[in-house]
Amino acid sequence: MEQIAMPEQFEINDRNRVRRVAKRGEYDHAAVFQVIDAAPLGHVSINDQQQGLIAIPMLHARMEDRLIFHGATTSRLMQHLGSGAPCCVSFAMVDGLVLAKSLFHHSMNYRSAVVFGCGQLVNDEPERLNALKAISDKLLPGRWEDARQPNAKEMKATAIVSLKIESASAKIRSGPPSDDPEDIELPIWSGVVPCQVQTQTPIADEHSQKIALPDYL
Ligand SMILES: Cc1cc2nc3c(=O)[nH]c(=O)nc-3n(C[C@H](O)[C@H](O)[C@H](O)COP(=O)(O)OP(=O)(O)OC[C@H]3O[C@@H](n4cnc5c(N)ncnc54)[C@H](O)[C@@H]3O)c2cc1C
Repeated sequence: MEQIAMPEQFEINDRNRVRRVAKRGEYDHAAVFQVIDAAPLGHVSINDQQQGLIAIPMLHARMEDRLIFHGATTSRLMQHLGSGAPCCVSFAMVDGLVLAKSLFHHSMNYRSAVVFGCGQLVNDEPERLNALKAISDKLLPGRWEDARQPNAKEMKATAIVSLKIESASAKIRSGPPSDDPEDIELPIWSGVVPCQVQTQTPIADEHSQKIALPDYL
């Protein structure tokens, strides 16, 4: 009999089940990973013994089912993440402003993900270099091959944390506003203003006036 491949999913439990507008929740690896890969940054939330709860924006990359972060070895956040303490990371992309007839029904079209897991320091040197390349490639493909490679001093000053995604959910809203039936005929513009993150024309610094723009830019 032909085997039907089941989609890979994060287990749905009390921690990651989307309750508010549950129909927008998704648990497939593909849905969660798509948001993580699209988001330029993630907000890392930790419960630090000295400072208590704090959420800090960070660059990230994804390597299979792991999130990669880098930072100064002296960074409180990196030390906390590297200690294996539990943390939560959230990602969001705004795809549109949703303008309803009523203010109550104004919303956003978005793709978001909330991820739970524990980090660990990466100590193996080739792995650390791979992780840094992954972060560089996510930011700007082609830049890693072009720029000067990290030297021993820079590598020593840099901590890398790898966090296995243990539990996660995505939440996605798309489409027009959902107005109440009694408001539909009101003479007020309603609809969606699409949004996206976009890079703009590069600006050379004073040391690069005579250097051609690389192809990847
Ligand atoms: C750009 C953006 C703007 C938003 N603005 C607002 C706002 O102004 N007001 C508002 O009420 N809500 C807003 N939301 C939705 C918000 O993220 C929450 O989903 C919502 O507030 C419900 O919160 P809750 O704690 O009741 O969630 P619950 O459904 O009780 O959360 C249970 C679990 O579901 C998962 N979950 C919840 N929210 C998300 C999410 N967004 N993405 C992935 N997993 C999730 C988490 O694992 C969480 O532990 C916004 C979302 C985005 C992406």
